[in-house]
Parts: sequence; C-alpha cells; structure tokens
Amino acid sequence: MYSPVSEIYLNGRRFYVKRDDLIDPYLAGNKYRKLYTLLQTPSKRYSTIISYGGTQSNAMLAIAAMCRDKNWNFIYYTKPLSTTLKHENIGNFYEAKNLGMKHIEIQHQYYKEFIASLRLNLDEKIFVIDQGGAVEEAKKGIEVLAQEIRESGIKVNSLATPSGTGTTALFLALSLPEYRVYTVPAIGDSAYLIKQMSALSKIPENLTILEPEKKYRFAKPYIEFLNMQQKLLDAGVEFDLIYAPNLWRCLLAQTNEEIFYIHSGGVSGNKSMLERYSHKGLFVS
Ligand SMILES: *Cc1c(COP(=O)(O)O)cnc(C)c1O
Repeated sequence: MYSPVSEIYLNGRRFYVKRDDLIDPYLAGNKYRKLYTLLQTPSKRYSTIISYGGTQSNAMLAIAAMCRDKNWNFIYYTKPLSTTLKHENIGNFYEAKNLGMKHIEIQHQYYKEFIASLRLNLDEKIFVIDQGGAVEEAKKGIEVLAQEIRESGIKVNSLATPSGTGTTALFLALSLPEYRVYTVPAIGDSAYLIKQMSALSKIPENLTILEPEKKYRFAKPYIEFLNMQQKLLDAGVEFDLIYAPNLWRCLLAQTNEEIFYIHSGGVSGNKSMLERYSHKGLFVS
C-alpha cells in the first residue's frame, strides 16, 4: 500500500508529509511499517501473537488490528492497571480490547522475570513481539517506506520523523543515505536515544538528533505541544500529541530547508490524551 503525500504550510514554509497515518484507522504509521513482515505472513503460519508493554501504546493497537485481520489470538501483558484505565471507554486500550485483544496483568514484582521468560518453550505457532516493535521484522517494512520516498519524486534533501526507541529513524537513515534524517527523542534525552540506536547499528552520519530547548517527560501533557498540534491541525493534518509536536517545534526553530516529514501515526491516542489535557486545565490558547 502506497501512502499519499500532503503539502502543508507552517510559518510561511512548505513541508511535505508522507501520510502513513492514512493507511488504516488502527494499523497505521510506523507501527504498520514495523509489522510489515508479519502482515505478509500467511494466517496459518501462527495461531497466537504475544506482546507486552504500556496500555496507551500505539503498537498494541496496531498488533490488535493485525491479529483481528489475520484471525490470530492476541495476548498482551502489562503491569497492573488502575481501575480508571480498566473502565475507560475511549483510547487505544479500549479499542484494542474491542478488536479482540486478551489482556493479562502481571504483578510488579514478577513482571521483569515474566517478560524475560516469554520465549522459553514457545510453540512454533506462537510469535512474540517485543515492546516497541519487532526489530529485524521492522527493517524490511522501513525499506519499503524508503523505496516509496525515493519514488515520490519530491525533491528535498531532508526527512524527519520522531523517535521513541529510534528504530524507525535509524532504519530510515540507513536505508536512505542520500537524505539527511532529523529526529528528536520522545523518551529520555538524546544520550538515551543514541544508546538505544547503537544497540541496533552504528549510527550513520546522515542522522541528526535535534535537541529540544527543554526536557519533556514521555506522554505528559504540555501546553506547547497542544498548541503545536492545533497549529498543525489548522495547517490541514492531524498529528499525535506525544511524539510529533516536539519534533515539529524543533524543525521550525532549528532548520530552514524544505523537509519531507514522515507521519508516524498515533492519532488514535489523541482522544484520551486530550482528556488528560483538559483534566490538567490545559486548553488550546
Ligand atoms: C511508536 C511511535 C513512534 C516511535 O517509533 P520508534 O521506531 O520506536 O522510534 C513515533 N511516533 C508514533 C506516533 C508512534 O506510535
């Protein structure tokens, strides 16, 4: 599936946006790219997919949608949840359960050991996806994205996409050495991101990690993120509230060339994030 490209204008600058958010309501963005190999796998190859991690995770929702389409069982392990979250009727967790995800809570004191033991005595019909997305499988999907970027005919020298684990930005930079790839960490700081990426490969020259002017904590509400997201919405494209606003702010402040931005998805989480903003008394200003 070829995702389309939109043009948007911000501060009088033109940006191109690769609309990976439009691929599917649930299975979109870089999670679609990361699950690419599994999506190409015939249904009968597996009976069950197992994964684990956070309950607001975009990966969790994408895997749930894939398993529904493939008729695979999906078991998702988390640490114990708050009662509020358990009963929420919006957001990724709620949607994933509606798609058939079976959720199992593991007590804090056993969690680490439990996750470490997931691959022991596995049946060949069961596949485990690590938090953040399966790494080796991700590579192939990002290469397909890279090919689409090359073939788009858009004449820019720079790309941008936000980072959690950094898997997407790193593989993109490795697959497209002829472009500069900008990213920014959503989890921890650049030192942490560099460490995560270095575990996968040597970081190539063409990857640039921008430094935000202040440190943000992952998935927390910030008024400047809300305002940036609104500005993007006014420009014509909805982005997620966790990863995208920080990178857009950095791009506007620290670059001046034409940029091709790869939409990483995550829009499905906006409703529950917006609730958290309004609980904090934060509204678009
Ligand atoms: C998962 C995710 C990311 C981070 O991707 P990594 O490959 O882990 O760096 C960025 N943006 C959105 C919207 C995501 O869901």
